[in-house]
Amino acid sequence: NGLKKYFPITGGLFGRKVGEVKAVDDVSFYVRKGETLGIVGESGCGKSTTGRLLMRLIEASDGSILFEDKEITRMSPTELRKVRRDIQMVFQDPYASLNPRHSVEEILEEPLIVHGIGSKDDRRKLVKEMLEVVGLSSFHARRYPHQFSGGQRQRIGIAKALMTKPKLIIADEPVSALDVSIQAQVLNLMKDIQKEFGLTYIFIAHDLGVVRHISDRVGVMYLGRLIELAGSEELYENPKHPYTKALLSAVPVPDPDLKKETILIEGELPSPANPPSGCAFHTRCSVCMEICTTVRPEGIANDGHYVACHLYSEGNAAGVINTKLEN
Ligand code: SF4
Ligand code: MG
Repeated sequence: NGLKKYFPITGGLFGRKVGEVKAVDDVSFYVRKGETLGIVGESGCGKSTTGRLLMRLIEASDGSILFEDKEITRMSPTELRKVRRDIQMVFQDPYASLNPRHSVEEILEEPLIVHGIGSKDDRRKLVKEMLEVVGLSSFHARRYPHQFSGGQRQRIGIAKALMTKPKLIIADEPVSALDVSIQAQVLNLMKDIQKEFGLTYIFIAHDLGVVRHISDRVGVMYLGRLIELAGSEELYENPKHPYTKALLSAVPVPDPDLKKETILIEGELPSPANPPSGCAFHTRCSVCMEICTTVRPEGIANDGHYVACHLYSEGNAAGVINTKLEN
């Protein structure tokens, strides 16, 4: 709720603070138990930072994070350790997150040792179990990360996240580094695991195409802000924000007869250290209005469809402007 993360920019002779990057700037959302919330945006939009904030891998500058009604931002280290059994992360680059000198067995056991769970026998049993859950076998337990393919390594990363029997998994671009042919396999595996263990997912991606079939709801971020969030079907069928519309127009459609016009996003992504005034997207928006350059649009939710854009502010002739957008 109202989550912010501002990183100081230091410079000059004495390393004084000369500015700040508003990596996450007043972001609010909820995730229902058992659902998948996709969070999408270009690199530097603050989606990974948001994921890290939720686990308190980094501290928020402001805002609150509730997990099952417990305030994570104010937890003592002991309480935080307990919650970290329930919330696990899967990272983009499994190779970087798996210690190359440890065998798969040692890698998977580690979270249990950290949390003081089970005897050595229990742990080894669970390692074998989880390897099978992710489509590997106990035969792989003695091998090392370099002996696996990228897809297999991500399976190991997923098994590691499952070891503490978490309730929530925050997956930060878990398939972005994989070949397209492998991506679907890993996505399907994650879906199956979600059903089997009743997991809740926050699924971070830079591409709307990737999260479409795994997400119940999808949020879109731009320069540290959440600019739209809706149920997946609603978002893909009826996007409201000009940025979302442009992103969606770039997602390939399977049927070539379904003609789709690509809406180009003008200009470069501005620096998060120096975001535009008013609506952060105004420098690239093809339907920018005068108010957009000075006033930051408030988010408005209608039937669970949230959007932060002046086109949808009260009193705006959204219908008229929408027609213009579709042309
Ligand atoms: Fe475009 Fe204005 Fe909406 Fe921003 S607020 S997306 S500039 S129309
Ligand atoms: Mg990232």
